[in-house]
Amino acid sequence: MEDIVSLCKRRGFIYPGSEIYGGEAGLYDFGPYGVELLNNIKQSWWRANVHLKENYVGLDSAMFKHPRVWEASGHVGGFSDPLAECKKCNNRIRVDKELEKIGVTADEKMSEAQLNGLFDANRAKIKCNVCGQQDFSGVHAFNLLVKSNLGDFTGQDERPVYLPGEACQGIYLNFKNIVDTTRLKVPFGVAQIGKAFRNEISPRNFLFRTREFEQADTQLFVKPNHNVEAYEAIKQDRWNWYLSLGIKETNLRWKQHENLVFYAKDAWDIEYKYPSYGYDEVEGIHDRTDYDLSQHMKFSGVDLNYTNPQNPQEKYIPWVLETSMGMGRIFLAVLSDAYTVEVTDNGDSRTVLKLSPELAPVRCAIFPLLKNKPELVAKAREIYAALSKNFVCEFDDNGNIGKRYRRQDEIGTPYCLVVDFDTLEGDKVDTVTIRDRDTSEQTRVNIADLNQHLVV
Ligand SMILES: [Zn+2]
Repeated sequence: MEDIVSLCKRRGFIYPGSEIYGGEAGLYDFGPYGVELLNNIKQSWWRANVHLKENYVGLDSAMFKHPRVWEASGHVGGFSDPLAECKKCNNRIRVDKELEKIGVTADEKMSEAQLNGLFDANRAKIKCNVCGQQDFSGVHAFNLLVKSNLGDFTGQDERPVYLPGEACQGIYLNFKNIVDTTRLKVPFGVAQIGKAFRNEISPRNFLFRTREFEQADTQLFVKPNHNVEAYEAIKQDRWNWYLSLGIKETNLRWKQHENLVFYAKDAWDIEYKYPSYGYDEVEGIHDRTDYDLSQHMKFSGVDLNYTNPQNPQEKYIPWVLETSMGMGRIFLAVLSDAYTVEVTDNGDSRTVLKLSPELAPVRCAIFPLLKNKPELVAKAREIYAALSKNFVCEFDDNGNIGKRYRRQDEIGTPYCLVVDFDTLEGDKVDTVTIRDRDTSEQTRVNIADLNQHLVV
């Protein structure tokens, strides 16, 4: 993982947030290649979940929402991490995580009293990870929502508005709008990619647990009790998407939740085997019954029942099947899976990101063989301008060809084109060499066929 973090910084995928001010914990910025990779992942997800599904539509809801939304969702009352404070050094620990480390099953859904009981029974085994002392306070639930004063001009924090603790609430808020303004009938789905914020006490594992992140969510609205088959189909569909990105199936596994929230029927995570940390959640798939829409109906007072257009007597609150993927987590999984170090024939090592061409930040790099031959440079620039209309391309005439190939290998560029003297005249005129990233094999291709050649 250290090698991947280092590559991310060195090659402009990920920068630590606010770095020139010494950084800010749990925040990262996507650099020039990072944002291209991120956008390609999002596009692949969006195509799979909106454009390729006849009964799904997209949404982009405002981040700020009416404060009551987060009361209805349970985030104001119950969205918290159990913390204890070291009385010697004031370091705060996540009690559930510390208990898990010593083999005691605990999670953040347990009550404060339950966690206090477990913590007290195991205090002798838990040390402060900063000062090594064992003198902790009791366990307190610390709410993770991030507050803002948007629209509150009292200066007294009287009407706190929250940044989204999860991205999906906007889908529930617009359920009625979508039913009223589209021809969709239950079962139908809504997909959204949105930001979420959590006041994590200990952000960790690079992009895995951050304070600001993006989530890609789908919610399928189904008739009550019509959940089981649809849930299995969604699980299979999501698994297949990971394989379509080129992620190795041996690095993926399913994990069923043991402690379900009271309204849920079932919950599974897709886990990825991260280097150094091991398996952890990339995406959760949840069978949530009618809880979400019922809560918003109760708190808003608006009737969110669905009327069957074929049978107006039939009214019900749809059940929800949800998928929720962490964008930073899939980004890290894609990078980890693609990261490869190979030993070349002459004994050098070659770092290659074996990204699927669909995801690679740059589809094609174009090199003139020599920098100081204007006719080669001009032809290479001409090809670059033409291909850039359809693909993300990069022009590079800096250093020898071997170095340029290495630079592109490190960012995962699947194709490198070289414009040489044969391109300009002779029996190979108007052809270029195209080099395959994974095999390093070179073939000559007609310039006229390049667009076709680069399509995934
Ligand atoms: Zn301490």
